[in-house]
Amino acid sequence: MSAPKVHVLVDGYSVLEGDGKSMRANCTCSVVEGPPHIIVDTMTAWDAEKVLQGLSSLGLQPEDISYAVATHGHCDHVGNLNLFQAATHVVGTCVSRRDVFTLHDFDSEPYKLSEFVDVIATPGHTSEDVSVRVRSRHQGLVIIAGDLFEREEDIRDPSLWRSAGSQDPDRQMANRRRVLAEADLVVPGHGPMFAVTAEHRRLESER
Ligand SMILES: [Zn+2]
Repeated sequence: MSAPKVHVLVDGYSVLEGDGKSMRANCTCSVVEGPPHIIVDTMTAWDAEKVLQGLSSLGLQPEDISYAVATHGHCDHVGNLNLFQAATHVVGTCVSRRDVFTLHDFDSEPYKLSEFVDVIATPGHTSEDVSVRVRSRHQGLVIIAGDLFEREEDIRDPSLWRSAGSQDPDRQMANRRRVLAEADLVVPGHGPMFAVTAEHRRLESER
């Protein structure tokens, strides 16, 4: 088995609408090219075409995907799980395949997807949030972190992740630090992949 590569299929976004009462948002959708091939965060139910196009640009079909992960259960992260009928589904800390649910205690150990990839609990945004940790071929350690990070800019401006909703801001902060300490690259929930810098680590540790 050779070490994997992380591809971002679609960059996510989030913007508050003019009326201040609604938000336009979609998640960043990524694929870990293996084998095993893994898709992380499948956007909204209206985005099947985008997901399929992104996969085909990598020469992949839905049936090639062994794991379909949603970093948490919000609508913009789970919309196209049903495309992946050959996959084990991981939605937050809930692991299932068809009607069989695997009980896994994420607090005691990561859930391993391969020699190079595991899923770790990173609660905060919701109490069920997980991140996918990938020891990649040429990109170093990549952590696909979902809404633990809204986008790179939220390290300088924490109001960006706090205003996106956080069930437990203290735990979210602790997990943000943990991920920044470890990762070379982070894929956030609603923005492009970014390289972690010493400045990011310094800013986050000062909070
Ligand atoms: Zn989100």
